[in-house]
Amino acid sequence: MLSEWILRARFVLILLMGTAFFPLDGRAWWDETHLAIARAAGHRKWYHAAGADIAKLKLGDVEGHNHYVNNACGARITPALIFEQAKRYDRLDPEGHLYGAILAALRGYRDFQARNLYAEYHLAYAVHYLGDLSQPLHHLPQDDYNRKYHAASDGIVNREALRMFKRIPLYSIAIGSEEDLAREIARIAQLSLKLGCTLRKEDRLIDREQAWEQLGHSASLLQAVLRWLEK
Ligand SMILES: [Zn+2]
Repeated sequence: MLSEWILRARFVLILLMGTAFFPLDGRAWWDETHLAIARAAGHRKWYHAAGADIAKLKLGDVEGHNHYVNNACGARITPALIFEQAKRYDRLDPEGHLYGAILAALRGYRDFQARNLYAEYHLAYAVHYLGDLSQPLHHLPQDDYNRKYHAASDGIVNREALRMFKRIPLYSIAIGSEEDLAREIARIAQLSLKLGCTLRKEDRLIDREQAWEQLGHSASLLQAVLRWLEK
């Protein structure tokens, strides 16, 4: 009787662990990976970093289009594009506007701060989008390749990400203006698109080393953004 109960309890535990590690929505680094990026960057409210994905559940595409951009391989991602995309924040736009969403969310943060309103939730969105910026498959359309590998790619280091967030390699970025920010978003978007196109050509999953390196781009830019906001 007791052994049967233990077996049942183990079965339920395995099911619960399964849903924690493998969420159903596969279009974003998974939660713990987003949290790890924010922790690595030293964000005080790192635990907000998955919130933008939670919002998608109720807001659907209005929020969903802030998390990706459909690019052709070979596309040139310029700072001007980032400013142009910022105008489409929270609009229905199936081509996606992740790059502009980063800028727009930070503008929301500064606007609320200037008016003495609670601004942290705007920053929470920016922190999340900065995380999505390094996921190579967020820069490609939802084609057969993307559908085949997306979920596995989003979760590639998720199991240990939060425990090992210090493994995310940081480097120094200086930001003093929106122009600097747009240039850095464009740089990381371009290298992430290039990696995504290589992976697609080779029909393979991102490897774990590549994933940690990508997370480093997000965390480094987030760290620079946080310093800029403190000025
Ligand atoms: Zn996302």
